[in-house]
Amino acid sequence: MAAPWEDVLLNEPAVREAASVAVDAALLEGVLMRTEGEPNASDVVNYAPFTLLPSAVPSALFEQAYAVQQDFNLLVDAISQNKEFLEHTLASTIKVDDFTARLFRIHMQVLEEGLAQSVFLGINRSDYMFDCGVDGTPALKQIEINTIAASFGGLTSRTAAVHGRVLKVLGKSKEASRLLPNNPSKGLALGIAKAWELYGSQSAVVMFLVEEVQRNIFDQRCVENELWDRNIRVIRKRFRDVFEKGSLDDAKRLYMDGQEVAVVYYREGYVPKNYDRQNWEARLLLERSRAVKCPDIATQLAGTKKVQQELSRPGTLERLLPGHTEAVTRIKATFAGLYSLDTGEEGDKIAAMAIADPDQFVLKPQREGGGNNLYGEELRQVLEKIRDSPERTSYILMDKIKPQPAMNYLLRAHSPLQVSECISELGIFGVYVRQGKEMVMNEAAGHLLRTKAIEHADGGVAAGVAVLDTPYLV
Ligand code: ADP
Ligand code: MG
Repeated sequence: MAAPWEDVLLNEPAVREAASVAVDAALLEGVLMRTEGEPNASDVVNYAPFTLLPSAVPSALFEQAYAVQQDFNLLVDAISQNKEFLEHTLASTIKVDDFTARLFRIHMQVLEEGLAQSVFLGINRSDYMFDCGVDGTPALKQIEINTIAASFGGLTSRTAAVHGRVLKVLGKSKEASRLLPNNPSKGLALGIAKAWELYGSQSAVVMFLVEEVQRNIFDQRCVENELWDRNIRVIRKRFRDVFEKGSLDDAKRLYMDGQEVAVVYYREGYVPKNYDRQNWEARLLLERSRAVKCPDIATQLAGTKKVQQELSRPGTLERLLPGHTEAVTRIKATFAGLYSLDTGEEGDKIAAMAIADPDQFVLKPQREGGGNNLYGEELRQVLEKIRDSPERTSYILMDKIKPQPAMNYLLRAHSPLQVSECISELGIFGVYVRQGKEMVMNEAAGHLLRTKAIEHADGGVAAGVAVLDTPYLV
């Protein structure tokens, strides 16, 4: 499974030269992020962290991940339309997790009022690691599926060019020519454009709902630019702007500053800290509107860790996707062991199992964005503490995936150049559009490879742990 550049990894002068070429290539190609010091200005920017070399990815698993993406799109969409399933699955969670409970209440409220929205747009990213079995054969195992604000579809489209340059500098032109082109931001924009078209108002705009702190703006601009290229107007607004200037007319059309909004694309709103009282009100206003929300609140709930755990119960997928036997088989093949910690005998047994052998598991709360999961000794301590409390049900337990590490250099501004033992996570972007009951688009839109040093159990690129990478298929 190794990539064919082990020979250069420890050749220090070659690595230094390649790293300086790599950084300049990243800046030229637009692998950019704003700085921590000035997160809301583009006067000073830096390169987004990335690996010096592409990482080896087994081609069979790469193909498997692409092949199951349309199935996952169907599944997420089916869950979002299944009120009973969401209600039943999240019942225990919303008793103890206030954030999920608030999302759920909005979901119920808009259903009771009757959905004004008739066009649905899903953009998700299904993430995987390559679990190394006892015989050393890697297997594709899903980490999670992100149904809101799945990012890096823009920046990742630019890393192949950077890594191609690096490989050439290192005398590996043949390998450079094998790197795959990849542009998720284009696929994402095609989905947004389709939803905008079906909404059916030429003068309406697409609204990107963005965070107060916008370090990752260039990633979003990649999607915006694709829309402008198709003559679709894009505005960028925060929850605060929606609270102050958003309104609905009698037909629940959404207006911002007098401009009609066809599509709301959330790059915000996935963690509790995104919300204060006004922002919750703004969220409710958006959800009640006729505008196409990407995602609507039901689809956001479909991406919770609790739903993921429930999907792994025998019979659940079959019930959610009746008649899709092959899709169910493909989806199941990617599942790792997932366990409920709900109150009761089953949960008691699972908690005892994890406490006895914490290194085999990951304990996950209902949170997104990295840095929330618990591992090893910390997992054991926390679980022991909450073992007999209802708080236990706000978590799920998952088998720990153990990939085979590989050596690489992680390039980060102001950090020393040093070789690290690394593992990678592959994400596949999915895009779909549904009008009423009819799926009018269902695609895999590209991939994202993120790599981190093994000493970090958790965390993504935005969390400062993982870096952007390019797969080199082996
Ligand atoms: P988040 O919503 O915070 O991104 P994830 O489930 O993706 O939550 O977990 C965050 C990170 O933790 C992942 O990117 C991965 O590095 C690590 N991780 C999560 N689940 C597992 C697992 N089952 N085995 C090993 N590592 C995991
Ligand atoms: Mg994740």
